[in-house]
Amino acid sequence: MNSKASHCLTSTTCLAFTKTLICGLVIQFATHFCMADERKQDQGQGQAQLPVQAQQPPESFRGFEAHHPTWRDETAWVSNVGMRCATVYDFAGRFFLEYAMVDDQRRAANVFYRNTDIFLRVGYFLAVRGNQTDAQLIQEFFSRKTHYTQLKEDSLQNSRNIMLTTFGDDLNFCNENLNFFRSVKKRLESDEVKNEDPSLREASKVMRRSSEEGGPSASASGQLGLGFNQELIRYLDPNRVAQVWEYLLSEMKGPAHLNRPPMVIDPELPTSARFVFEFPSQDSPENPLQIRVSPRTLNEWRGSTLYWGLGHELAHYLFLRSENAWLEKSQYESELHHHCEPEFMTLTRKLADFLEQNSTQALMQMYAEGFRSCMRNPQQ
Ligand SMILES: [Zn+2]
Repeated sequence: MNSKASHCLTSTTCLAFTKTLICGLVIQFATHFCMADERKQDQGQGQAQLPVQAQQPPESFRGFEAHHPTWRDETAWVSNVGMRCATVYDFAGRFFLEYAMVDDQRRAANVFYRNTDIFLRVGYFLAVRGNQTDAQLIQEFFSRKTHYTQLKEDSLQNSRNIMLTTFGDDLNFCNENLNFFRSVKKRLESDEVKNEDPSLREASKVMRRSSEEGGPSASASGQLGLGFNQELIRYLDPNRVAQVWEYLLSEMKGPAHLNRPPMVIDPELPTSARFVFEFPSQDSPENPLQIRVSPRTLNEWRGSTLYWGLGHELAHYLFLRSENAWLEKSQYESELHHHCEPEFMTLTRKLADFLEQNSTQALMQMYAEGFRSCMRNPQQ
């Protein structure tokens, strides 16, 4: 019974859940079921958080290419175009799904959606390696999205075709450059990461060593006490989870005695959800404070990526506690939308650096997951 409701962790329930449940990482492809219902909330709340100043509409890609014919040779421009095309493809995916009349259009929407990731992985990785800040990148994303939303609304009102606006030109430009970005992605992924921060490299080495030596052992699980469902020990090394927690807690400057929230495997999670963080609030006082993990995630995600996903949920928890002055409460208040908070994005990106020192491919995946959570779920 793969009905829409069962896929729609966020569409049928998120309005009620917004303040009580952070829907965590959602499988990028399946979230499309939620888009139509989410769009009003998304446009309003995502942008309310980061007010976009009135500015000139961005130069169309055709204009850009005329001014910078050699952009493919310059890393900064490749990164900029990658981030821009990620927005274009994400927007196209939503648009074509929203107005799809036939299956072919729905399929096309999904192709745009899926390929967003190629642009995003390259664009975001190069941007942060080029020292661009998350605040800047998020601001630019919302600015472009506002521009395309305006073009869409104008087109709908005037009964014109959005493809006849500069959006159509931009989409064609991105289509023409998709293979170029595929090749850049492949090239980047084949390199070893050169981490410039020796202290981080050392910390990570220590972490790996203790994981290898200790492994999931009875003594380690005994030390964990509250906060680790025994069943999870089959899949996760408790030492490594503890190190992720300590890293995040120290970065957040949280109280040393703070306990991790319990983590449980939940086979009932909708297929679109990888992890869910939930907490009691005024709207849902009955919610337990816990992280639910889908067994599918445990089977599909491996190594650093899996620990990073858990760390993303732990970061939600720490942001929530920080917002509540680190006080223990029976109901927590949450006004912040974490995913598009630059500090949240930077923290989870640094966690990826902490966890992964070898595979650029894994690092690019984690980075992109982080930015995509802002693009696709800005209300969380
Ligand atoms: Zn999240």
